[in-house]
Amino acid sequence: MDRIGIITSGGDAPGMNAAIRAVVRAAIGRGVTVVGFHHGYEGVIKNEATVLDSKSVGGIITFGGTILRTARSKEFMEKSGREKAIEVLHQNGCQGMVVIGGDGSLTGALRLHDEFEFPLMGVPGSIDNDISGTDFSIGFDTAVNTALDAIDRVRDTAYSHERVFVIEVMGRRNGFIALEAALAGGAEAVLIPEIPYSLLEICDQLRASADKGKRSSIIVVAEGAAKAGEIKDFIQKNTGFEARNLVLGHMQRGGSPTAFDRVLALRLGAFATNRLISGFKGEMVGVDGSKLVSHPLSYVLSTERAVDPEKLLLAEVMAQ
Ligand code: ADP
Repeated sequence: MDRIGIITSGGDAPGMNAAIRAVVRAAIGRGVTVVGFHHGYEGVIKNEATVLDSKSVGGIITFGGTILRTARSKEFMEKSGREKAIEVLHQNGCQGMVVIGGDGSLTGALRLHDEFEFPLMGVPGSIDNDISGTDFSIGFDTAVNTALDAIDRVRDTAYSHERVFVIEVMGRRNGFIALEAALAGGAEAVLIPEIPYSLLEICDQLRASADKGKRSSIIVVAEGAAKAGEIKDFIQKNTGFEARNLVLGHMQRGGSPTAFDRVLALRLGAFATNRLISGFKGEMVGVDGSKLVSHPLSYVLSTERAVDPEKLLLAEVMAQ
């Protein structure tokens, strides 16, 4: 193998640039040329190719987002689109490709692997941390810290004005960001899609806290669980407490990656590249504790990541 492709695809995540840098430099270290395609699978189909040398990835480790840009490609969802993508990869002399992205992008990679036996390696890049086969995906730690920073700031004003604040965080159908940020931010309650909740019980809890002298509270809501505005209205109506809501939204995707995400991205990017060059394919790399691991994409995409019950219990106990 002397030439490989690389894309970032789907939702962007802080740390993707560090992963690109790692792939390029690890490949160059083994005498392999890296072709970067802009705009994910869409850019492969449209042949938006550039050779990435060591210098082209210099100075990008501090940036959020992705220098290769990202996109969602409808054409790639069709077999004819994937055929075009394979044709372009062959035209560019690519004998394999590293795909950095979330579960959708990894599903696309598995399709290419299964249909055309094209050598692919997946690198998990998603702020949602909803990909199984790895304890952490690139961008999660930064997104949690961004949400935490917002929670800390809001707590100051919630305390001063004696208000309840309902803060909605990202996470699609999962509550990983919400649970982690709620624990770290000392939230009084956390609502996630994986666990049923009772708003009446939360109102009782807020009243009980107020009786004990607590005059402000933070409730963290995962976007997949409920709308912060509706929770705020319910609480206000049922308790009479003054409440506000805040949707953090896309700010959680941006920003300079944390040291954790940068190092994770460097390790995963280099590991994926070395495995691809060594002849492994159809896998996604990840971490299990501090160890690097690699699993078949078919396994990763057919298993669900579950929330940690110990953390859920901890959040409950801490909110008392
Ligand atoms: P993410 O990778 O962040 O989960 P998406 O789910 O939007 O983001 O997926 C990114 C891209 O991956 C899609 O636009 C599409 O081109 C490709 N993709 C997603 N699911 C499939 C699929 N089932 N088959 C083929 N390609 C897919």
